[in-house]
Amino acid sequence: MRKHFFLGLAANYQRDERIAHTFKIGHTEDLKDLKRYLLRRYGGEKAILTKNGRSALTLALKAYFDKGDKILVNGFTCYAVYEAIKAAGLTPVFVDISLEDLNFENTNLEKEITNSSPKGIIIQNTLGHPVDIATIEQLAKEHHLVIIEDLAHCAGIKYPDGREAGTVGAATVLSFGKDKSIDTISGGAAVLRYPYKNIIEAPKRHPKASDHLRARFYPTFGAICRALSYIHLSGVIMRLLVKIHWVEKSADNKLDLTRRLSKFEAKLALMQLKGLSRVGEKPLRDFYFVNNRDKVLKELAAAGFYFGGFWYEKPVSPERYYKKVHFPEEKCQNAVYASSHIVNLPKYYTRRQLAPARKIIEKYQEGTK
Ligand SMILES: *Cc1c(COP(=O)(O)O)cnc(C)c1O
Repeated sequence: MRKHFFLGLAANYQRDERIAHTFKIGHTEDLKDLKRYLLRRYGGEKAILTKNGRSALTLALKAYFDKGDKILVNGFTCYAVYEAIKAAGLTPVFVDISLEDLNFENTNLEKEITNSSPKGIIIQNTLGHPVDIATIEQLAKEHHLVIIEDLAHCAGIKYPDGREAGTVGAATVLSFGKDKSIDTISGGAAVLRYPYKNIIEAPKRHPKASDHLRARFYPTFGAICRALSYIHLSGVIMRLLVKIHWVEKSADNKLDLTRRLSKFEAKLALMQLKGLSRVGEKPLRDFYFVNNRDKVLKELAAAGFYFGGFWYEKPVSPERYYKKVHFPEEKCQNAVYASSHIVNLPKYYTRRQLAPARKIIEKYQEGTK
């Protein structure tokens, strides 16, 4: 039986890219190239490269908002987003999602705008499924909301009206973290467009030699880890890598507004950005709702499909940080439902490879999609 491990480590790289990258030399020019590319692709006046996505999001938020401002945020999201909003001194207002696409539900959105008079909105295009951008833009115009686009899940996708995600809002934020749509293991970027009102200082502190080393070997090491998972060694290896700080659990990647991106991370990010098709990428993950998830996961494992974890097991994930958020569960019941019923399949396996998994999932599938 062919086994499939949903272990996203360096899954975006081809073999020749892995090998070539390992022998490249890092230049300061790599950082400049990436910035130039981001400004051209997304349009903007300032590009900032950071240690991770949440640091980029924090800086972007600080550029447009003042302390205490309320920001609308998807009720089904990653702790990194919450952390960035708090670090920027702002107040998150969670909006319940639609179960169709895991994005804002329009009625809820309008209700929250009336109730809390927010100053901005973060669009995340959950798991790579695009929002109805025209409606959101209209609401933003009427209520003077600043739009921030978070591309952690959705670099390369198109909105229904044909525009590329990342070209609409005041600022665009990318994460280059493990399992994200651009994956260099860690890193982030913010593209700012005028008029931003607060001047932001770009990170100045250089990465450590070990950070460069990690990004140099990530494509190769990642592939080795994935291969070892087939003889059930990846658990041991992953624990070892976490122990020597080669890999951080995604949610634990520390917010740091002062550390620069590594040159090797910049090289990898640029390579992947250039590779994103111009006509729109597939969603990062296809999702399903099932009525007995534990049982489904057991059956999937018996058929050779192993999950490390999925997005998201709580409305704001991971579970170990959820309590800190004081999430308004009564108000966001779709998000609560989604987080306890969702199963999602990543795009680094083909539809054909995933067909047996889908068959199992469909037996237990419920609700709409
Ligand atoms: C992961 C993630 C981020 C930021 O990720 P970092 O781990 O800080 O790079 C931002 N937004 C969303 C929706 C995410 O899933």
